[in-house]
Amino acid sequence: MNDAAPGRPPGPDPVRDPWLPAMRAALEEAARAPGTGDVPVGAVVLAPDGTVIGRGRNEREATGDPTGHAEVLAVREAARAVGEWRLTGCTLVVTLEPCTMCAGAIVLSRLDRVVYGAADAKAGAAGSLWDVVRDRRLNHRPEVITGVLADECAALLTDFFRTR
Ligand SMILES: [Zn+2]
Repeated sequence: MNDAAPGRPPGPDPVRDPWLPAMRAALEEAARAPGTGDVPVGAVVLAPDGTVIGRGRNEREATGDPTGHAEVLAVREAARAVGEWRLTGCTLVVTLEPCTMCAGAIVLSRLDRVVYGAADAKAGAAGSLWDVVRDRRLNHRPEVITGVLADECAALLTDFFRTR
């Protein structure tokens, strides 16, 4: 297993290593999706102390909801847990780079940070195709950490599409 980001030499990674347990939790969420025919993407929201306060997996097919992406569902659950819409100090950890809708939700919820696994060259809005979360025209710009367990996150998607 290769935990390092692509192109990075093996060894401790002080930027990404702290997020490995949370990304494994997001991967567990993602892996629960295939029974519904939903693309396996999972997300968790961490409180400032690292506690998981929101979980979500892609449920678009299961619920017939076009906004039923893992990030949106995790953010909603976290906001319910916190008791308000602002998730200041919190971190969203997701297996796949957020789309434009989810990037917008991340900005609007005032999350401090978004951590993702696999990049999405076709629809990613956190650095690949757009960079909504770090657009300088917005007054809230979360920190972005990319490539955490990227290989495992991407493999889950590759396996899913191969078997369809
Ligand atoms: Zn999305």
